[in-house]
Amino acid sequence: MIPAPIISVKNLVKKYGEFTAVNGISFEVNRGEIFGLLGPNGAGKSTTLEIIETLREKTSGEVWVNGLNIDESTEAIKKIIGVQLQTAGFYPNLTLTELIQLFVGLYQTQVDPQSLLKKVNLEDKANAKYKQLSGGQKQRFSIATTLINQPILVFLDEPTTGLDPQARRNLWDLIKEIRDNGTTVIITTHYMDEAEVLCDRVAIIDSGEIIAINTPNALIDELVATGFEKVKEVKKANLEDVFIHRTGKAWRED
Ligand code: ADP
Ligand code: MG
Repeated sequence: MIPAPIISVKNLVKKYGEFTAVNGISFEVNRGEIFGLLGPNGAGKSTTLEIIETLREKTSGEVWVNGLNIDESTEAIKKIIGVQLQTAGFYPNLTLTELIQLFVGLYQTQVDPQSLLKKVNLEDKANAKYKQLSGGQKQRFSIATTLINQPILVFLDEPTTGLDPQARRNLWDLIKEIRDNGTTVIITTHYMDEAEVLCDRVAIIDSGEIIAINTPNALIDELVATGFEKVKEVKKANLEDVFIHRTGKAWRED
């Protein structure tokens, strides 16, 4: 038996007044994969994610999450997904432990704050206030909070935007670890290097339409098969490799 996809989207349309932000897209996300939604600013990535997360109304089309229809099973879907809040969603004066306890209460679940913080390398910050964290630490904390209800699926909307190379690579490891522990991850990014190393499959979305969907490797092979060649000879390393090699992989005050 072929396992049913964890997300199934059919002919999804979202209009904001006269403007069509999502123009009839269809795709599936498989269980256990890191699925990337790639596209320039304004392509419709966040709109699509928020509709699947049941946080935004669609105009038309159908969406199923774990076999549940989003029109009928909003509450059941909310229980099995983890959504990364915009950082403004956290009370600035509570400590990380207090914030986790707050979420644990909301979800009526059991999670040890210290072990959760350890997963995102913030165990030393358990008693720090949220407002005292750096940008990268806030990102990591918000990813940790998506895991509190032990979701089968997490949504990360541009989790690495604005981070330095060390923090970005360490976040990739964290996201792979989440996948390897059995949680499906759907992520948006406009960093193609990131999508190439992190995503099992990607969909490229532009002006509200999916223009390509496949594994990164297959998409590259398709392009090469058309006769495409890079003008510049590809070296075995790039400037980012130099940067990481020279400055190390350790977490910084990001
Ligand atoms: P992305 O996340 O890919 O950058 P969005 O889904 O945020 O794109 O937005 C897609 C398009 O819809 C953009 O042109 C954006 O300006 C527009 N849009 C998003 N939210 C609203 C809204 N609440 N009202 C009107 N237009 C919106
Ligand atoms: Mg967006």
